[in-house]
Amino acid sequence: MKKILPTSTAGSLPKPAWLAEPEVLWSPWKLQDDALIEGKQDALRVALQEQLQAGIDIVSDGEQTRQHFVTTFIEHLEGVDFEKRETVRIRNRYDASVPTVVGAVARQKPVFVEDAKFLRQQTTQPIKWALPGPMTMIDTLYDNHYKSREKLAWEFAKILNQEAKELEAAGVDIIQFDEPAFNVFFDEVNDWGVATLERAIEGLQCETAVHICYGYGIKANTDWKKTLGSQWRQYEESFPKLQQSTIDIVSLECQNSHVPMDLIELIRGKKVMVGAIDVATNTIETADEVANTLRKALQFVDADKLYPSTNCGMAPLPRAVARGKLHALSAGAEIVRQELAR
Ligand SMILES: [Zn+2]
Repeated sequence: MKKILPTSTAGSLPKPAWLAEPEVLWSPWKLQDDALIEGKQDALRVALQEQLQAGIDIVSDGEQTRQHFVTTFIEHLEGVDFEKRETVRIRNRYDASVPTVVGAVARQKPVFVEDAKFLRQQTTQPIKWALPGPMTMIDTLYDNHYKSREKLAWEFAKILNQEAKELEAAGVDIIQFDEPAFNVFFDEVNDWGVATLERAIEGLQCETAVHICYGYGIKANTDWKKTLGSQWRQYEESFPKLQQSTIDIVSLECQNSHVPMDLIELIRGKKVMVGAIDVATNTIETADEVANTLRKALQFVDADKLYPSTNCGMAPLPRAVARGKLHALSAGAEIVRQELAR
């Protein structure tokens, strides 16, 4: 019988200090050339082992081979000049110096496919692979070529679809698209955001997920969250469209957030990755706290469709904290599994 409440993480895990400086985003690599390739693979093995030891069911690479969840993918594409940088506002929240789109974007070769094959060789557990979503990609660039957010998103969707098909062929069970931008640009989500996401998953046989969150626990994000009021109803804007979409799984932030749990009702029928681990604090949840969040979610999602997860990636956390949180997630899910079995 298939295990119910299979656990997973949203994606990233902290990197070892010998590979990259810990607890920062865009941390530069500490190794070069062949040593870097080998170091990334070793880090991936460690990240996988930590997930397995914690009892995580659907495992990932912990994003050990990428510097950043959006930038690394874009770095491998043609048409984007990383030397030519402009300052833009990311998700209407913070300024960052970003690369410029200078010509037609294209993917000449696979980006993560070798890494995914490597992960596939290491485990027989189901594996999940994260890619940035089209809308989040365009929001991390200055576009001096298409001069249209929508046009660029469609181009990226085509490129993502090429990569996703090769990841599927490499044995990935779930391909996840990270779309934190879906919590910000509501009109665009409904006009073309969900449509471009569906273009990215066109023709895939494996399961597909979209991860929509309130971001890493960095200051720009925690400051933004303070402005959102006591009820975070952002999901209300995108859920009706997502409910009707072809995406299989929706990954959400639920632990310690001000998201009213009943919003999940709006995506009834979809599988839901319920974030039951807060990534914006070093405090490790107890198993009971995790179980509580899952029980609340069970009011709005059928047990066979509930996938306990983390709110977001854990890259910026200390490693011991991330490990503790993985164990808490497993233990909390097990409590609820026992209850459901009774
Ligand atoms: Zn996230």
